[in-house]
Amino acid sequence: MTLAVTDQTQQEADRYVHSVYEAVIARNPHEKEFHQAVKEILDSLVPVFARHPRFRESGILERIVEPERVITFRVPWVDDQGTVQVNRGFRVQFNSALGPYKGGIRFHPSVNASIVKFLGFEQIFKNALTGQPIGGGKGGSDFDPKGKSDQEIMRFTQSFMTELFKYIGPDSDVPAGDIGVGAREIGYMFGQYKRIRSSHEAGVLTGKGLGYGGSLARKEATGYGCVYFVGEMLKARGLGFEGKTVVVSGSGNVSIYAMEKARELGAKVVACSDSGGYIYDPNGIDVEAVKQLKEVEYKRISEYVKRHPGSTYTEGCTGIWSIPCDIALPCATQNEIDADAARTLVANGVIAVGEGANMPSTLEAIEVFLEGDVLFGPAKAANAGGVAVSALEMAQNGMRLSWSFEEVDAKLHVIMRNIYESSMRAAEEHGHPGNLLVGANIAGFLRVADAMLVQGIV
Ligand code: GLU
Repeated sequence: MTLAVTDQTQQEADRYVHSVYEAVIARNPHEKEFHQAVKEILDSLVPVFARHPRFRESGILERIVEPERVITFRVPWVDDQGTVQVNRGFRVQFNSALGPYKGGIRFHPSVNASIVKFLGFEQIFKNALTGQPIGGGKGGSDFDPKGKSDQEIMRFTQSFMTELFKYIGPDSDVPAGDIGVGAREIGYMFGQYKRIRSSHEAGVLTGKGLGYGGSLARKEATGYGCVYFVGEMLKARGLGFEGKTVVVSGSGNVSIYAMEKARELGAKVVACSDSGGYIYDPNGIDVEAVKQLKEVEYKRISEYVKRHPGSTYTEGCTGIWSIPCDIALPCATQNEIDADAARTLVANGVIAVGEGANMPSTLEAIEVFLEGDVLFGPAKAANAGGVAVSALEMAQNGMRLSWSFEEVDAKLHVIMRNIYESSMRAAEEHGHPGNLLVGANIAGFLRVADAMLVQGIV
């Protein structure tokens, strides 16, 4: 059902939403990734503000774009040569309307206030879409794990937690992994937290190892969830993964399990990448080999071609989008698909794009997809499976029990289907039928806004 709103109300809502966006730019100059994430959401919310004056009256929008707290700290550590190194640590506690702050930690040289804020802002709405009781937050450091020894990783990570522990807890803020932070780093962080607190609080971090409170299927959840979500989009057009050619960027946790599930559903995955370049294997990517390289040996993806005759390696990342495919799953990093790459994908006949990474398509690229009638699964919906299973990990920790892989995977599947359906419904109700970007933004926003509304001006 679409409620009619007058043109005048619509224009007024547009002016209002735009004025909030201008204030965000003025207050956070030079933070272009944060601006981009805010713009994407705010543009979708015009029909909401045209219809619900009460949100404006209680300043929901002005409050939601301002983090509840931003913590920046020094992370000193000593490298293997005995030299003192200093990095910068961040934790943005963005919104706690729905539950404890929840969101990953990223270790990458590009991490700065803008990156952490864009990720934290996205996380609010993504977490809301999962239907789980989790607020939004994000953290990280400009530390570059590439080429570091295991000892260096441990010393850095322990120093990072020695400061971070003051601000987190199972009922206040629950970090997890993101780029550069996997099972190994979570293990070191958990060990240091436990040592400082003298208390085994399993629910303080998610993505833990299975031996000390981790959840089965958490590692697979973001990638599997992304494929489940794209599966729903395809189903609506009477299609499926069977027999489709798929390109997946990245070769981390999200990419590996997206490839694994796509292949299980009968697709042929022909390419993946890392920050150095991409591999193309016309015989279908050997996912087990990528796992071995990335999860066990911590090697570059270029090694793959030495072990797989017939495959090729190309330096640089954007070229991966020139490989013809039916389904593209960007699972590497922000802004990895620009308008040109999007146009190439459309020209090559791509049917569906599912965003496994956070904000992998630029605003211009998204426009190209929508105009090209490509099925587009936006990040905060398509990649919500990881954090959804993190919330299930918190639930299991609270109850001190563990569910089977099948049980968690089945719950994940239901959550992804619900996200798809609630996004489709919100899009339809607000005058943008079929537009999952607008629908996901509105459905996530409404859940947070309703909770903020009843909690007073805080
Ligand atoms: N970093 C992941 C994300 O972007 C997972 C966060 C979590 O599990 O808390 O959603």
